[in-house]
Amino acid sequence: SKARIIADQLFNNQSPPPVIRVFLATPLRRGFDYLCPPELKPVPGMRVWVPFGKGRRIGIVGECDVSPQVSLDKLKPIEAVLDSAPILPPALNKLVRWAADYYLHSPGDAWQQALPVLLRQGAPASGDELFWQLVPGADTSVLAKNASKQLAAVAQLQSGELSDNELGELPFDRATLRTLQDKGLVQSEQRRQQGTPFWENPLLVNPGPRPNSEQAVAITAINAAKGFAPFLLEGVTGSGKTEVYLSAMSETLKAGKQVLVLVPEISLTPQTLRRFQKRFEVPMALLHSGLTDNERLKVWRQARDGELGIVIGTRSAVFTPLARPGLIIVDEEHDASFKQQEGFRYHGRDLAVVRAQLEKVPLVLGSATPALESLANCEAGKYQKLVLNERAGNASQVRFDLIDIKHQPLTAGLSPPVLAAIKAHLGRGEQVLVFLNRRGFAPTLLCHECGWIADCHRCSAYPTVHKGRQRLICHHCGSDRPLPHQCHSCGSSQLVGVGLGTEQLENELSALFPGYKAVRIDRDATRRKGSLESALTGIRQGQYQLLIGTQMLAKGHHFPDVTLVVLLDVDGALYSSDFRAAERLAQLVVQVAGRAGRADKPGRLLLQSHHPEHPLLSQLLTNGYGAFAANALIERRQTLLPPFSAQALFRSDALKAEDAQSLLDAIGQRLQQCAPEGGWVLGPLPAPLERRAGKFRFQLWVQYQDKKGLRQWLAPLLANLEEDPPHRRANWTLDLDPIDS
Ligand code: ADP
Ligand code: ZN
Ligand code: ZN
Repeated sequence: SKARIIADQLFNNQSPPPVIRVFLATPLRRGFDYLCPPELKPVPGMRVWVPFGKGRRIGIVGECDVSPQVSLDKLKPIEAVLDSAPILPPALNKLVRWAADYYLHSPGDAWQQALPVLLRQGAPASGDELFWQLVPGADTSVLAKNASKQLAAVAQLQSGELSDNELGELPFDRATLRTLQDKGLVQSEQRRQQGTPFWENPLLVNPGPRPNSEQAVAITAINAAKGFAPFLLEGVTGSGKTEVYLSAMSETLKAGKQVLVLVPEISLTPQTLRRFQKRFEVPMALLHSGLTDNERLKVWRQARDGELGIVIGTRSAVFTPLARPGLIIVDEEHDASFKQQEGFRYHGRDLAVVRAQLEKVPLVLGSATPALESLANCEAGKYQKLVLNERAGNASQVRFDLIDIKHQPLTAGLSPPVLAAIKAHLGRGEQVLVFLNRRGFAPTLLCHECGWIADCHRCSAYPTVHKGRQRLICHHCGSDRPLPHQCHSCGSSQLVGVGLGTEQLENELSALFPGYKAVRIDRDATRRKGSLESALTGIRQGQYQLLIGTQMLAKGHHFPDVTLVVLLDVDGALYSSDFRAAERLAQLVVQVAGRAGRADKPGRLLLQSHHPEHPLLSQLLTNGYGAFAANALIERRQTLLPPFSAQALFRSDALKAEDAQSLLDAIGQRLQQCAPEGGWVLGPLPAPLERRAGKFRFQLWVQYQDKKGLRQWLAPLLANLEEDPPHRRANWTLDLDPIDS
């Protein structure tokens, strides 16, 4: 075999055989050593086939000419080198290695995550395709009259060559072409369908509105930036942030450079894309989860080769190679969905900052409600803050009111003043948005006779009643079962849903306001493809007057005819054990408020609470997000919480609680043994949801004054844990800069 031959060559040679270190997609935080003949010319960043265990795998060359970790005769030779050059451009190559290092993650897995699926599986990075042509002067009259497929293929090829990818629709297939090739009538050729870099074509930029003075300041600052320059663009929804992006993008494109735009959620992107398309006549692509692996790889190649001027995508798009990067934008930079919550737990925004630094390009982080981390970076002088205070264009300031619901009778969770307001706004022909972040009909099912509560058999949680679908669904593990009609404990049929979900809210509001049409926007109501788009269109066209929804309604979409926004149930976040809950609530309130209103019809926001005197709420409502954030940062500084310290979170899970707990106990002890001065370990504690999908979960918090010191503390321990785990009855993961517990 080929491997054998390579091995013979290696060992017959006099000088010591060269060893390369390869990163493989295993959880282990290290490289694997292989022998590699120098004539294969491996370079870090190229893909290689290597034998691994009983099979073979694709890995990435990490280092060449290393001194091996084990004796030479234990090393196997690599099988093949797949690439003729590193698969990622140098800056991106560095980014992936930086990220694996920073997040203390397996470098091989980080590489996998950074590449499109087909490249992980060995597809050529070059983009070569197979092209079929008729052999010039071939005599096709030799074909039998009844060889209809072959005749069809010849007829097709007479009008021009065909690429392998174009065969799908045609009345013949690859086998037909191979037969013709054997007969000497057809030839094939492997080459690349080359597009042209976008900068070689004329660029058309349609005019936008004239920037107001604040926008002009921001645009000038961004356009004047040379090299790496991070900006935080802060402005409420409708203040014209997107217009600032568009102006900066325009300059970048005119200079023949590419723009990378990261957005939190794919449901937002059609709107963004349309707006970009209206402004720029330049090839652009959207990287979203609906793409096939082939389409994804195509966008990847086109971006790498400069064929695309603009690439828009969610967090993983931060790894898209660009021939000539010129500008990186992260919209809604505070959004938690930029953080990957499993496996390689990187933060897309934070990596965008590092990437901009490596590529030496300006970076714009935009938000109405910046993350406290980003604001702290402005205070520290690392980012330049650009503020849009006026509402540009057609939006106006929203008025906030707190409604004290203590002792108030509630109908469908709504207090009398709120019901009166809804009635008044509907009566004026305006739209009303009611926000409740709980989908389903009711969060618990209770027996009215004996108090029995239906629980999830796999989680320490109660499943949600979904009346429309007649099922009980656990929102934590996804398990579902038919809605019971009898109590499991006493047999009574008096089962009632307790608490309020969006499904019930929609029913009740429809009954309370029978003359008006309601629409619900949550993950249940928008399961079918296209249903979200059609609901949004219906809202914009005024088919619906009552909008009921969860988080999904709070992001990105602007509803100019909504003049009243009601937020139910905000009290939970006020007294949460999660120190980020207040920040999240403040962001949510401002984001939801931002959906509403325009100049001639100002919006109004009503917040129901049992704690209207709570300082967070009152401050947010009277002084706005900026004042809230400034105070929250002071508090974080005093309590030494991030961003004024660095945290890491170990999580464990196991079928038995004691296994999950004892593993973290042991990790905690090892951490304590080598703790630096001021290093701090808390736990193990049960996770907020202690049991999920049948497994018990624990967590261990680690904190230190700075990120570098924290990593230096953890890194040796991780190597030690991999080689010598306390026991193997539980799994553990590490999350650096965790944002969720
Ligand atoms: P944001 O991204 O902050 O939500 P947008 O850029 O989408 O704000 O602007 C909100 C609306 O105001 C859009 O319809 C936009 O076209 C319009 N707009 C923005 N800037 C201006 C301007 N300088 N003059 C007129 N209209 C503007
Ligand atoms: Zn469950
Ligand atoms: Zn009962």
